[in-house]
Amino acid sequence: RQQERDQIVKGHEFAAKLYHYILNNSAEGKAALDYLRSRGFTDSLIETFQIGYAPPRWDVLAQYLEQRQFSLPLMEKGALIAAKSSGGGYVDKFRNRVMFPIRDARGNVIAFAGRTMGNEQPKYLNSPETSLFRKSRVLYNFHAARAEIKRTSRIVLFEGYADVIKAWSAGVHNGVATMGTALTEDHALMMRRSAEQVVICYDGDEAGQAAAYKNLDILAKAGLDIKVALLPNRLDPDEYIESFGAEKFRRDIIEAAVPTDKFKLIHLRRNFNMQDNEAKLRYVRTAIREVIAHIESPTVREHHLKELANEFSSISSFETMKQETNEIREEQQKKRRSGDNNDFSWNTVMN
Ligand code: ATP
Ligand code: MN
Ligand code: MN
Ligand code: MN
Repeated sequence: RQQERDQIVKGHEFAAKLYHYILNNSAEGKAALDYLRSRGFTDSLIETFQIGYAPPRWDVLAQYLEQRQFSLPLMEKGALIAAKSSGGGYVDKFRNRVMFPIRDARGNVIAFAGRTMGNEQPKYLNSPETSLFRKSRVLYNFHAARAEIKRTSRIVLFEGYADVIKAWSAGVHNGVATMGTALTEDHALMMRRSAEQVVICYDGDEAGQAAAYKNLDILAKAGLDIKVALLPNRLDPDEYIESFGAEKFRRDIIEAAVPTDKFKLIHLRRNFNMQDNEAKLRYVRTAIREVIAHIESPTVREHHLKELANEFSSISSFETMKQETNEIREEQQKKRRSGDNNDFSWNTVMN
């Protein structure tokens, strides 16, 4: 078993070297290299992240592994190659894609993400799950980020591989990303074991912000202190860094990340047309009901209410907002108490 795992890792390490070599040294790799450079991936970044290129051929990796005496059935098990559907032999899993090696927490290459250079779908093709590659447990770049995570007790969580790599070039060395799949409890616990705080830095589009919102609970449950970075609409971290530079990204995006409550209030705004008085009123009421009334600390509640009252002084006063907050809290507490009672009577009587 252990021997099999070692061989599969070794196969991945060889594959990463091969793809990296092809990117840097072959005629086939030239277009991929141009593509990466046009996106701001420098030679040094390509080196650090061992980015590569899988050429548009059927079995360049399969042949390479065979020449080096790897067991091809084992390499198939590791999802590096696939058995041909008819006849014998093996074909590669990735073709004509820019290759990003994915490492486990120990730094071993265990999978790849391959990106198209055009508009083909899917944009990113990830290795399938294997005994070594469990997407729910792997964080891209965690191994390399570990030292900076320890030093700062902080992790920056991105949506995509490109964001992690560009952030690294911008001096943010504690960035990680999930595999394009949902953030899991395992991911959150893994982060909590090495850091106290997480900065969510997802794309500025609706999908990214909704995903950030959705992940708050899972991160909070793991005991992480959460900050959320706010990106201008439609820009992702990679694009922001390309447009505005490293320093501005660190100062105005990462360091300016806001606490959860503030993020929720800002996120809620998307649903209301702030030009319209009627909608403003509904926003204020919803903000109080959905966010502010749930805050346990009276001081923090008061802080947010003051901000809200300042901004919406034409709608309502601080005193009125505070009164509304208290009424809602009482209502919620009453509901909770009667909810508990129901639970008590039913569960204990029924069991
Ligand atoms: P790029 O800058 O190269 O376009 P991105 O990270 O900005 O990549 P997004 O569309 O924002 O790409 O998606 C975020 C992440 O979701 C990707 O990094 C990838 O992990 C995953 N992802 C995106 N599209 C796909 C897809 N079609 N199939 C699988 N995973 C995907
Ligand atoms: Mn996105
Ligand atoms: Mn993106
Ligand atoms: Mn992007």
